[in-house]
Amino acid sequence: MTDYRIALIPGDGIGAEVLPPARAVLDRVGARHGVTFRYDEFDWSCTRYLAEGAMMPADGVDRLRHHDAILLGAVGWPGVPDHVSLWGLLIPIRRQFRQYVNLRPIRVFEGVPSPVLGAAPGMDFVVVRENVEGEYSEVGGRFNRGFPDEMAVQEAIFTRPGVTRILDYAFELAATRRGHVTSATKSNGIVHTMPFWDELVVEAGARHPAVEWRQEHIDALVAKVVLDPSRFDVIVGSNLFGDILSDLAAAVAGSIGIAPAGNIDPTREFPSMFEPVHGSAPDIAGQGVANPLGAIWSAAMMLDHLGHREAGDEVMAAVTGVLAGSPVRTRDLGGTASTDEFARAVLDAL
Ligand code: ATP
Ligand code: MG
Repeated sequence: MTDYRIALIPGDGIGAEVLPPARAVLDRVGARHGVTFRYDEFDWSCTRYLAEGAMMPADGVDRLRHHDAILLGAVGWPGVPDHVSLWGLLIPIRRQFRQYVNLRPIRVFEGVPSPVLGAAPGMDFVVVRENVEGEYSEVGGRFNRGFPDEMAVQEAIFTRPGVTRILDYAFELAATRRGHVTSATKSNGIVHTMPFWDELVVEAGARHPAVEWRQEHIDALVAKVVLDPSRFDVIVGSNLFGDILSDLAAAVAGSIGIAPAGNIDPTREFPSMFEPVHGSAPDIAGQGVANPLGAIWSAAMMLDHLGHREAGDEVMAAVTGVLAGSPVRTRDLGGTASTDEFARAVLDAL
């Protein structure tokens, strides 16, 4: 019997609606694999911020340190600036736990047509996004406030160890898949950091001779992701480019409600965090209609990370079966099922 301690952070809006299905799926599949989960729930959220002035307590990150993994719903709420939820919770956890990989698998499911490409286009790739440095930095400032020549400066930070480790992760991942890496940069316009990244791709390619690779400018790449997604296996990019690419790809694949993400510390020194890509969706919160698939897939990624790949595959097989073999799906996918009805169908399939 393996027993894991999981930190649950439901967060805001539909975050609290999609985590219970993920948890139910974990318990069900875990039982078959001799794995049990103990959950500690944390009420860290914009609701907490509005009541107490902080998304989480000052020692919040420390309180997660001894968990085996973290499952997050979504944080963010109208009236609370996005940077509050980002810098008050997500970014401290990602940075202090050195979750330098943001892993976002993208695929289309039989029975879920792409709104852009129609039924079943070939689309099965992983976006590997650098998660702790790059463009999302605090370095910079606002100058000459109120003067005609007012300006803002924002520094992007790329370090050799930081870029090297994310590239190595991408190449190693590709070696377990179809053996191809596409690196996204913009070296014609951004003349210091991006050529540096490109050079390190050449070095990473030399370290992984069995993996083919290619560099593309981000602007050309996004068009190809929409027009011909089947050519991609692993796409690696900086914090900003990876963020944009994975949201775009998730939308092309069907619905933002499907996509999962892992914030991963590959060294396993710290817990990794798994979360659906979607936000708190205030427009549908409280109605019980949110698609729990992004959260369930995130839980499957968590199983994979904890070393229970078969269990994770079983979860995804159950999801695939429900979508391909039944009309049960939530509203965002054109169905009428509630969150709970879809979850129940997945549990039954398991
Ligand atoms: P954030 O800033 O946190 O990314 P957002 O407001 O930009 O949040 P979402 O909260 O993801 O984006 O919502 C975008 C749209 O997608 C909304 O119309 C929302 O209802 C829909 N949506 C998001 N997640 C789901 C889901 N799981 N099921 C169904 N619809 C969803
Ligand atoms: Mg958003």
